[in-house]
Amino acid sequence: MVVKEIIHEIDSIVDQEFDSLIASLQDFLKLKSISAQNIGMEECASFLKDTMESIGIDCKLLRRDGAFPVVFGEILNPSATKTLLIYGHYDVQPPEPLDLWDSDPFDPIIRDGKLFARGATDDKGNLWATIMAVKCLQQSGIKIPINLKFFFEGEEEIGSPNFKAYMEEHKELLSADYTILCDRGVHESGRPQMYLGHKGITHTEITIKGAKRDVHSGQAPFIPNTGWQLVWLLNKLKDEHDQILIPGYYDNVESPSAEDLDLLKKVPFDKKDYCEIYGIEDIVPQNEGVEALTSLLFNPTATINGLTSGYQGTGNKTIVPNQASAKLDFRFVKNQDPDRCVELIREYVQQHFEGEIEIKIGDVRNPSKVSPNAEVVQVAIEASQMVYKEDPVVWPMLDGAGPMSLFEEILDAPAIIVGLGAPFAYANTHAPNENISLKNYSDGIKMMAATYYLYGMRD
Ligand SMILES: [Zn+2]
Repeated sequence: MVVKEIIHEIDSIVDQEFDSLIASLQDFLKLKSISAQNIGMEECASFLKDTMESIGIDCKLLRRDGAFPVVFGEILNPSATKTLLIYGHYDVQPPEPLDLWDSDPFDPIIRDGKLFARGATDDKGNLWATIMAVKCLQQSGIKIPINLKFFFEGEEEIGSPNFKAYMEEHKELLSADYTILCDRGVHESGRPQMYLGHKGITHTEITIKGAKRDVHSGQAPFIPNTGWQLVWLLNKLKDEHDQILIPGYYDNVESPSAEDLDLLKKVPFDKKDYCEIYGIEDIVPQNEGVEALTSLLFNPTATINGLTSGYQGTGNKTIVPNQASAKLDFRFVKNQDPDRCVELIREYVQQHFEGEIEIKIGDVRNPSKVSPNAEVVQVAIEASQMVYKEDPVVWPMLDGAGPMSLFEEILDAPAIIVGLGAPFAYANTHAPNENISLKNYSDGIKMMAATYYLYGMRD
């Protein structure tokens, strides 16, 4: 059969089986799996494992002490040369506040073509589509031409504390050519959506200490003022053109490639709308379109998150504050060496301040970026076009941070994110009335089935 016929076949089987596909998602959504409150985790993991096994996926629970299990599954094809790893998470956010839900968060109900339940989009709806895609392919007798592996964790909503360790301990088992993380949703415009990378991040707190105690501000000519000292120091970190002033900080930072720029041209961005949403006159770089998106996604940032010093209560208090502190986050882009950057920040701050200063720098998360030319990207784009009949919105980078770099670093299986759920603006993820539309769900199953098939069919 030619590819078009296969896609058509997938289409009809999903449509034909849709009632039972919805019912099984509802059964999954009924199970509370609230990692933050340790409710229902084991039950949900076993239900997931049993379902996967019933579809013909070999399955086991991976365990670590004190951790929620990972549900691992694989379906191997002896003649396949390619392996795709699918990531999702079966845990959900707590449903509170319950009184703001229009229906029970764990009694999935369909209203106006949408299924409402905690986890409907984030991430149970996404996850379920990836395995129902296997079920539909099996049912229509289409052989999956690749090795497929599934890594479903139960700790995403609590910050994935064991994610890295699980990966390191099961490196062989998880080995793959590429990873697709199914999370998030399609674009607000209805177009399919994917992300090829994200920034890295670290959190910093700088504290300057002065006199033994706050001092009467009559003594200001004599007593070092930590508030001013902090302002002067921060001024040396970044200028008013948004440039970080630490020498060497921009080493290796890459400009977007021609392919990245082509993708950015197709990302919808309405600056006027954006400014209206946030009540600002203009965006900081004062540029437009692709240039604006480049400033958003391809530049390292140093951001003051909060400043504290002296008296902030009602009225006045004439003191020289004896302590001042700033919390900042630093976001890294691909090819920057975050560990080196952290060293540079520390050295620079120490060099530019004489006196007592404390610099706390948190864990570093690395940036990640897959080339738009990578096979997995080409496949996902092709599958999107065939299933959604529209070009996907492809973000070469995400403005936020994430775990994608670990797939490349530990497994050598570069990762992209494909959003199968409801668009972010309407999904209500982490909030009351979380939902996924039935169309999102059915398209999601078709999208993943097409992806598995098309990936194997490429030379
Ligand atoms: Zn979430």
